[in-house]
Amino acid sequence: LDASGDNFSNEEHDIERALRPLSFDDFAGQDQILENLKIFVQAANQRGDALDHTLFHGPPGLGKTTLAHILAAELGVGIKVTSGPVLDKPGDLAGLLTNLDERDVLFIDEIHRLSPIVEEYLYSAMEDYKIDIMIETGPNARTVQINLAPFTLIGATTRSGLLTAPMRARFGISSRLQYYTTELLSTIVERSSEILQVQIDQEAAIEIAGRSRGTPRIANALLRRVRDFAQIKGTGNIDLDISRYSLKALNVDAHGLDEMDNKILTTIIDKFKGGPVGITTLSTAVSESAETIEEVYEPFLIQQGFIIRTPRGREVTEHAYKHLGRTPNARMGG
Ligand code: ADP
Repeated sequence: LDASGDNFSNEEHDIERALRPLSFDDFAGQDQILENLKIFVQAANQRGDALDHTLFHGPPGLGKTTLAHILAAELGVGIKVTSGPVLDKPGDLAGLLTNLDERDVLFIDEIHRLSPIVEEYLYSAMEDYKIDIMIETGPNARTVQINLAPFTLIGATTRSGLLTAPMRARFGISSRLQYYTTELLSTIVERSSEILQVQIDQEAAIEIAGRSRGTPRIANALLRRVRDFAQIKGTGNIDLDISRYSLKALNVDAHGLDEMDNKILTTIIDKFKGGPVGITTLSTAVSESAETIEEVYEPFLIQQGFIIRTPRGREVTEHAYKHLGRTPNARMGG
């Protein structure tokens, strides 16, 4: 289990799908975003228009894909799903686009990773619902313009900063998802327990929620692991004791920081005297890509007040020293 909660087997992906909220009403949190989306959907439905192109950004596991599916359901339309790295030829994109029915949703995950050619190809599709396709080959090759059914592109990205300006400008709706509070995550854990048909105490749900890095995907993943412990080591029901026991066995610390989170903090303290340290240097020191540090680990560590970003690099805070049981004056000793 890593901070993205992403390294699951196929079976776990099926379970994850089963836990996915299907309507606005099932979706916990992100209140402001939901309130706005409900209005936009209702208005589009009333007019019979396609919803404006929509961009969701924010760290992994916060519900971007879930919201894309919910939007399609609430619009009463179909959804086709792809991702930036998979769509490497304009031809693939043309195939998807020409198969969309009126008002359908095309969901592109990791949209910041589209190749420039595919991205450019997408512009006219988004703007005018038109694309040029190449027919025949050799001396007879020519392009013809075809009309597409009005559709909604929903893009998701962990790195909105990497989206090109023309791409960003083509989204009429853009929402940044936030980390979830423990309280919200505990309602998600309780809902998931119900779906998994396992009994859970409220305190246990809060315990799991508080250690989930503000992320529903991680909360659900921890719940499934705790369920295993409860089944084998306990009574089958999830109470506070078995939750604590399991979380300890899983190496999840009191704040829900995982190994890499803690490695980043201890490295900044031990090797760089608490910082500031540049992202590239840090990346080499902890053997993790700068991109992953920036998109997965750092946002949570900053949000929780463990590190700050300065013009000269990342610095740990007193809070981080305390969390690790260190004293900030160790900084002087080096
Ligand atoms: P992202 O696309 O942002 O990486 P997902 O939409 O795939 O995240 O969400 C990961 C999992 O977390 C989903 O399977 C879903 O079960 C759960 N989840 C995400 N957001 C919520 C929410 N607001 N309420 C309940 N469950 C959620």
